[in-house]
Amino acid sequence: MPANILVVEDEPAIQELIAINLEHAGHNVLRAHDAEQASHMVREVLPDVILLDWMLPGQSGLAFARRLRGDERTRAIPIIMLTARGADTDKVAGLESGADDYVTKPFSPRELVARIKAVLRRRSPQLTEEPVELGGVRLDPVTHRVSAGNSGLGLGPTEFRLLHFLMTHPERVHSRAQLLDKVWGDHVFVEERTVDVHIRRLRKSLEPTGCERHIQTVRGSGYRFAATP
Ligand code: CA
Repeated sequence: MPANILVVEDEPAIQELIAINLEHAGHNVLRAHDAEQASHMVREVLPDVILLDWMLPGQSGLAFARRLRGDERTRAIPIIMLTARGADTDKVAGLESGADDYVTKPFSPRELVARIKAVLRRRSPQLTEEPVELGGVRLDPVTHRVSAGNSGLGLGPTEFRLLHFLMTHPERVHSRAQLLDKVWGDHVFVEERTVDVHIRRLRKSLEPTGCERHIQTVRGSGYRFAATP
């Protein structure tokens, strides 16, 4: 599944090389040349992964990574640090700042794409193409099919993404704002009650199979997928 990847890199040639390769791998690429521009973009849309150059004009990549980790809204975004430095002490500093992985320049584009895939699988299982099966519901991201028992279910694209997210993060309660960030990717322009509308549609689609009971409302908090309701 395509991911939205924010590339924060001040060197135009490297930014271009990365963007071309990620787009070729099917991802959507957003570009920023420094931390300030990147934080404006993150405020509007939460990316699925951030590729962050260590040496940036103004605030360093390291400081920006710490800032992202310090904010509840951006805390969980996977970060891959890009840097020309290869010393172990730098690597430790990068990982301690909250980066998920570390790629040393020069890197092969193929390696970078593979690292992104690995980080996505670890941190955002709903963005990978692994089928999920839970509580009698089966969802296949490749074929976009959802089934329960022997019945196939027809879900709209938003209901599909919503169910995929809930099933890959089961049992936990997700607030409406979190669901907007994770499923819609943008919590600025969509009202929170939109989530309720799509939850209602999702339940209605699941009703014929009895599986709607897995989608639970937690009063005052949000929604969750419970495997054994
Ligand atoms: Ca740089």
